[in-house]
Amino acid sequence: MTSILPPVSPVSPVSPVPPVPAVPPVPSALAGRIVVPGDARYERLRHAYVHRGAPAAVLLPEDAGQTAEALGYARSLGSTVSVRSGGHGISGRSTNDGGAVVDLSRLDEVRVLDRTRRRIRVGAGARWGRVAQVLAPHGLAVSSGDTGDVGVGGLVTAGGMGWLARLHGLTVDHVTAVELVLADGRFVRTDAEREPDLFWAVRGAGGNFGVVTAVELEACETGDVVFANLVFDVDDAASLIEAWGAVLVAAERELTSFLTFMPGGPGRPHLAHVSAVYAGSAEHGAAERALTPLLGVGPLVQQRAVLAPYSALVPVSGVAHHAQQQLGATRSGLLDRLTAGAARAVADALESGQVLMQQFRSVGGAVNDVAATATAYAHRTQNFSLMSATLPELESGLDTHWARLAPHLDGMYLSFDTRRTPDVLAEAFPEPALSRLRALKDRYDPENVFDRNFPLK
Ligand SMILES: Cc1cc2nc3c(=O)[nH]c(=O)nc-3n(C[C@H](O)[C@H](O)[C@H](O)COP(=O)(O)OP(=O)(O)OC[C@H]3O[C@@H](n4cnc5c(N)ncnc54)[C@H](O)[C@@H]3O)c2cc1C
Repeated sequence: MTSILPPVSPVSPVSPVPPVPAVPPVPSALAGRIVVPGDARYERLRHAYVHRGAPAAVLLPEDAGQTAEALGYARSLGSTVSVRSGGHGISGRSTNDGGAVVDLSRLDEVRVLDRTRRRIRVGAGARWGRVAQVLAPHGLAVSSGDTGDVGVGGLVTAGGMGWLARLHGLTVDHVTAVELVLADGRFVRTDAEREPDLFWAVRGAGGNFGVVTAVELEACETGDVVFANLVFDVDDAASLIEAWGAVLVAAERELTSFLTFMPGGPGRPHLAHVSAVYAGSAEHGAAERALTPLLGVGPLVQQRAVLAPYSALVPVSGVAHHAQQQLGATRSGLLDRLTAGAARAVADALESGQVLMQQFRSVGGAVNDVAATATAYAHRTQNFSLMSATLPELESGLDTHWARLAPHLDGMYLSFDTRRTPDVLAEAFPEPALSRLRALKDRYDPENVFDRNFPLK
């Protein structure tokens, strides 16, 4: 399975354990649910997938009430408060040095509430792979992302661009209710009727508004899907990009595809991987008809297609985090079309050797059926997402590439970008969304407790 950020160059999981801090007495509700340096559980809990951390305390609440206690206690320590669900944040910082981490991994229920109405309830700490496993026997799925280890809380508060995006839209498009603990410790259940402004904000900018403990969603009827993996030689990356883009713009929405360029290594050519999911009719030949145009986008080296349950596309590894992802500098952009100019800029960056991974995803389809004002994720006209990634020490090369690409971009997805500078927000939340978010931030988090993800205030 491709992933936007497969682990590279794993580093040693052994890091110095910080000194045991003097933490204030723990409320009785949190007894046994706080992990500090020196605790045997600390090493497994201190880091995230992309970031190393040495927090003073990791809090492990088991329900919404304990989450409110944990947040209050974390705030009382007077330093950084990080919120963590699956720990796969790229733009977010779900660990820190010297602060507190509210870790929601114990809030991991996944339940079908009503099969007929396809209503499900999911704890923020569950992983999307397990959500898929629980839903599969019911013939249901929620399109989340391409990686089963990603947590519910981080993805469902930002967007959710996954394998079924063109057919079913973003994950946020299926959320029917969100339960969260606000900065002042108040527990709120928000939906289209209750606190609708907050409901709008948490579907795209949720990390700035509270600690989500659970969400309810309307899942989609989903049987087996066809997953195809095609490998191409990259003699002419620009033509390949343009050809792939043209196929996707013309394709039925049952087809969602990713195009990923990875360096070939010393003396080896670059390779392009096209992954595609066809989730349409089971009628004989339908999948073949949908996938065949992809075979012609470049010089094909390898092809494979399998019929599989959606849950097989997003397995859960359960591997503990030790900042194993080293491509710690990423940029995100959205595009309406893959024009010759955009394709050329991406191909040149590939040749430069400064940008180590580039991935296009098809969006459009059902993503664009939703009104731009319906959720805080407001990009509802673009057909493609691009993420470029490299090592932190090559970030200036990535910036050079990004500056060339900028005229071709229209918005961005914060979850695929490591920048946290205020100017990025205008691209992520086009007006009037940004002003509305800022006004709501003043109402729901005036003290800016949730400041780790991106600087709304
Ligand atoms: C390998 C990999 C593959 C990915 N694939 C996809 C993909 O296919 N599609 C896609 O859309 N995204 C994808 N992402 C991006 C991912 O969706 C975001 O990084 C997301 O934030 C991760 O969620 P998490 O709970 O695992 O992260 P965490 O690191 O736990 O959290 C990330 C940030 O989200 C916020 N947050 C987390 N939990 C909560 C909560 N309960 N309440 C409020 N705020 C919270 C916090 O601000 C935190 O800093 C991928 C990331 C990685 C590393």
